[in-house]
Amino acid sequence: MLPDYYEFCNPVKILSGKLALENIPHELKNLGAARPMLLTNDFLVKIGLVQQVIDAFGGSDIAIGALYDGIPPDAPIGVVNEMAGIYRAGGCDSILAVGGGSVIDAAKGLGVIITENTDDLMNLAGAEILSRRRSMPLIVVPTTAGTGSEATLVAVIADPGRHLKMEFVSYHLLPDVAVLDPRMTRSLPPKITASTGMDALSHAVEAYTCLQKNPLSDAHAFAAIILIREYLLRAVEKGGDDEARLAMANASLLAGAAFSNSMVGIVHAIGHACGGVSGVAHSDAMSILLPFGMEYNLGKIPQYYAELLLPLAGAEVYAATPGEARGAGSVAAVREMTRRLKEICGLPSRLREVGVKEEDFPAIARTAVNDGAALMNPREVGYEDVIKILQEAY
Ligand code: NAD
Repeated sequence: MLPDYYEFCNPVKILSGKLALENIPHELKNLGAARPMLLTNDFLVKIGLVQQVIDAFGGSDIAIGALYDGIPPDAPIGVVNEMAGIYRAGGCDSILAVGGGSVIDAAKGLGVIITENTDDLMNLAGAEILSRRRSMPLIVVPTTAGTGSEATLVAVIADPGRHLKMEFVSYHLLPDVAVLDPRMTRSLPPKITASTGMDALSHAVEAYTCLQKNPLSDAHAFAAIILIREYLLRAVEKGGDDEARLAMANASLLAGAAFSNSMVGIVHAIGHACGGVSGVAHSDAMSILLPFGMEYNLGKIPQYYAELLLPLAGAEVYAATPGEARGAGSVAAVREMTRRLKEICGLPSRLREVGVKEEDFPAIARTAVNDGAALMNPREVGYEDVIKILQEAY
């Protein structure tokens, strides 16, 4: 059904292919930049990934103004603030992020601090920050295939002191260019490949089923799910399979653009809370909670879940499944995917495996019902509902 009104915005230029990295200097020049600050983490430097990006600058007149490799998983606000001083001291004129969602979100945060000419991102916490356009170009090179942050209007920044993950939301956070190059994800271990791939799937499924879905977010979500079905297991089983890696990078971006222009739902509401309260990695929370969240919503929107059986299971299964069984078939297809991934690489399938304790449940449930994602879930989300899901997923 067509919504009465919707908006869709994805201004990110996408470079996708085997030599995509080599085009970064050209893109920087096009954007009027010559001195990027390169953001990453020390592990990606150690395994040589960052050097591959630097090598792509060979022969160009672009100089790295500063390199910051201290961004840990779930970028904390202190790190983002620290980077601002280094950006200014290095006389940088643009940002180049090489890393997973944590690095890309830190880069978005840095862009906000510099643009708003402040020293503390905390001064700008709250929705619809960044009233002005970002004052410098931002190019991002994702090294995981899951968050889709390269195509979203969101930056998740942790506030460890308050056990919170803060969401900054603004169209001005969208990067200028996203570079999808299979060389950047070859080194991802099977388990992270699996969990981040399931993160992308959770974005696509929730974008397709939440209250703000629209025809364009649907199209992006559908395309993402087809790629995930066809390529996630391949990428997990054979890390050096460039075709599978590039397909998953595209799936992640498509799913990111989908949810950035619709929303997510109960899986994200509970997942964010598991991250804040119990320190669970975002992608692990998504992998575990997705089938439980789908089951919770199934009775409310059976037709949308029925439609998803086609991308999730393929044309033959879809055609052979009676209409009224297709919705449940979608949940079963996701369960089967997580079962296979657990078998192949030990993907966690229960909250107890990732450090959640039963005594955390009340705090998780209180946080989840207040999460913005819960508001867009097709079925109302109450405290007791969350407790029940946590018990089932434990
Ligand atoms: P991550 O960036 O935290 O990285 C996870 C681990 O993988 C790190 O230890 C990292 O060093 C390692 N790694 C990354 N790339 C690698 C590679 N190519 N080879 C080997 N190791 C590699 O993980 P993520 O799942 O990409 O990002 C998670 C963060 O993104 C969370 O904070 C989450 O809340 C946030 N997030 C943001 C959005 C958004 O739209 N902005 C959406 C979903 C999640």
